[in-house]
Amino acid sequence: MGHVFPRHTKTNLPTAVSGEGCYIIDQNGKHYFDGSGGAAVSCLGHSDQTVQEAIKKQTDQLAFAHSGFFTTEPAEKLADLLVANAPKGIDRVYYVSGGSEAVEAALKLARQYHLERGDKDRSHVIARWQSYHGNTIGALSAGGNKWRREPFMPMLVPMSHIDPCYPYRDQQEGESDEAYGVRAANRLEEEILKIGPEKVSAFICEPVVGATMGAVAAAPGYLKRIREICNQYGVLLILDEVMCGMGRTGTLFACEHDGVTPDILCIAKGLGAGYQPIGAMLCSRKIYNAIENGSGFFQHGHTYQGHPTACAAGYAVISTMLERNLLDNVNKRSEQLMQALTDAFGQHPFVGDIRGRGLFIAIELVKDRETKTPFDPKLAVHAKIKKTAFENGLICYPMPGTIDGKNGDHVLLAPPFIIQDEHIAEIVEKLSASFSSVFD
Ligand code: PMP
Repeated sequence: MGHVFPRHTKTNLPTAVSGEGCYIIDQNGKHYFDGSGGAAVSCLGHSDQTVQEAIKKQTDQLAFAHSGFFTTEPAEKLADLLVANAPKGIDRVYYVSGGSEAVEAALKLARQYHLERGDKDRSHVIARWQSYHGNTIGALSAGGNKWRREPFMPMLVPMSHIDPCYPYRDQQEGESDEAYGVRAANRLEEEILKIGPEKVSAFICEPVVGATMGAVAAAPGYLKRIREICNQYGVLLILDEVMCGMGRTGTLFACEHDGVTPDILCIAKGLGAGYQPIGAMLCSRKIYNAIENGSGFFQHGHTYQGHPTACAAGYAVISTMLERNLLDNVNKRSEQLMQALTDAFGQHPFVGDIRGRGLFIAIELVKDRETKTPFDPKLAVHAKIKKTAFENGLICYPMPGTIDGKNGDHVLLAPPFIIQDEHIAEIVEKLSASFSSVFD
């Protein structure tokens, strides 16, 4: 033991040994309630028989066939299932092994789409501050988190960032939700005009921002106006649903809430639900046709894309979710969890906002509720919550505020879709204990 290169080289982590429903169990038999599904991954919990059997069956039959030579039944079945349930217009599925790869593929596909049409200048991508799109260098360029980006500057992809849609800090008093949504979206038009529409390839955003801001859903009308602007200037719309997709917000695709179909859609995490590493980039027929009628070759690819066992797992996850009506439980438990958190923390002196959609809910922490001033990042309040919650047997997903003070530390909850009453009580009780040890 001891040769793994861990994320945090100075931290000794417990050994995760087994999983049962909503719990992970370590080498000492300690149970941890998985209140964040890892990072919004384990949507079916940790011991789903259907998925496990599907993986075993596929591995016994055929573990790997390179996608340059073969298609496979699990790859085809999963693609059919995703397209059948995707927003109208989405037509093709390109497999990858995770979220960053899905975003990389999306950025390259957007660029190649314009090139196939003879538009050589469209290489600039517009993204948003305070977003996360992955850690590979292209996805990192799109990300809007300064502390992650700055050490690796200069970035490889020409990018610029606009301010996100962030009602808690940005909506003006008396401004309706819709008016705010449109005002925030119009920032994209300003940026496109600043760069020059003929240079812009794509705009990328998360419909519900996950890790970096904490479950911030787009205001009503925001994505509709974004779609209009993209159409007007020939800019492709990429939605990153790596974290918020696959049922997490109560619909299979998060953008269903907004009634908007992107040109390219990225998914991962909940697709394999932790049973297998798999992600996908979905696109409209328009984009696919440009490649098919042009060079006929998307200049991209990874060895493990369309991995049969991973696709079999993905198919089992999504069909299980739909057949067992688990999204009904997401919506029902969402209301309960939101109510329980509001009862427990709504008046807490250091809680600024409790928000989210589906089982994707966050608490934003502030030094001062009136002024909404974030805590000094040096205090690392998020890390203290994470540590004490973990000691109490609760896995939650706290993140620091941004270094420019544009949003505060927050705690993200994204429990498995199978949670019941007693699990909601357990989350609130353990989180309350953790808040007490950090703040009292
Ligand atoms: N996009 C979003 C919105 C994410 O939340 C993440 C991961 N947190 C990624 C992309 C990157 O996914 P991965 O870690 O699987 O590469």
